[in-house]
Amino acid sequence: MKAGVVKPGQKDSARLIEMDMPVISSGQALVRLLELGIDGTDMEINRGEYGEAPPEHDFIVLGHEAVGQIENPGIMKLDKGEFVVPMVRRPDECVDCQRGQLDMCLEGNYRECGIKGAHGFLREYLAEDSDFLVPVPKELRNIAVLTEPTSIATKGIEQAIEFHSRSANPINIAVVLGAGPLGLLSTALLRLQDFNTYVLDIVPRSSPKVHLIEAIGATYLDGRESIVTALPQKLGNLDLIVEATGNSTVAFQAISALGVNGILCLMGVSTGGKPLEICADCLNMQMVLGNKVVFGTVSSNRGHFERSVRALANMEQKWPGWLSRLITRRLTLDKFRDAFDTAPDNIKTVIELT
Ligand code: BGC
Ligand code: ZN
Repeated sequence: MKAGVVKPGQKDSARLIEMDMPVISSGQALVRLLELGIDGTDMEINRGEYGEAPPEHDFIVLGHEAVGQIENPGIMKLDKGEFVVPMVRRPDECVDCQRGQLDMCLEGNYRECGIKGAHGFLREYLAEDSDFLVPVPKELRNIAVLTEPTSIATKGIEQAIEFHSRSANPINIAVVLGAGPLGLLSTALLRLQDFNTYVLDIVPRSSPKVHLIEAIGATYLDGRESIVTALPQKLGNLDLIVEATGNSTVAFQAISALGVNGILCLMGVSTGGKPLEICADCLNMQMVLGNKVVFGTVSSNRGHFERSVRALANMEQKWPGWLSRLITRRLTLDKFRDAFDTAPDNIKTVIELT
């Protein structure tokens, strides 16, 4: 079978190789992978800035956002032909991993398919344990490739809402920073709960991203007109901010912009080493006097995947066709390297694996 691989640490090393077909062992199913989404992490891995090969290889099969179909269920409870989404993390021995909260791993010896120490899903077939395969209804087949990024947003937003419930005041204003796939999916999750949601990015108002934001009842803010720290004057007390740009300067600006009792959820990874001069006293005082919470979130567990599948079904029902508009580019496996060329209006690139 064909697989798209990279050599971690080496820039632009993506290439297509021929690999042996996986053989299922007991408790595993054979999955025919159908589609794979490319995200910022894949871009970083291909730039040589992130990623780790499995111990037995000097390359890693890329890709962690996938949907597939059961080809051979083995002795598992899944049915042949059923659609499934594979989870990303594989646990280590820590207490969180052993309780199924592998997204909260303490030891850091977890593996992540396509990212850290385990092959990913940019290939035609996968032999996988049922514990790591999440069933998806067939009606969602065309957008199920968005389940993994939705699960990341689900975890962050669930926790942010839980933290905010310390206050009797409801979340009146939510702000999402960044209108990439993670920002847009976060916006949709917030709008499913009818939060008054603003999305900041730096694209012109004619951009398809702005149409997508407005189509689900959120409001676009042009970051070139008003910077993050000026948002409270414009909007009022910012109760919840989701940082999905991965720009660390924006993340620190968001701490200042956060309102009283506000929650800031940091979802974007920054791999560089950029320094920043801040007023440490000011930030510390604002956080203490404002009861502010700033938290980071990474990965997702089975519960987040399952609730994401339900959220995607609700989005499809509430805004038919909206999710498929996030997939702006489709490439065949042979052309997967084109996914690393960035285009301003591109949102999500999906590789067709069949
Ligand atoms: C993936 C997560 C992963 C994180 C850090 C993200 O792109 O969606 O599953 O935990 O990268 O490696
Ligand atoms: Zn662990």
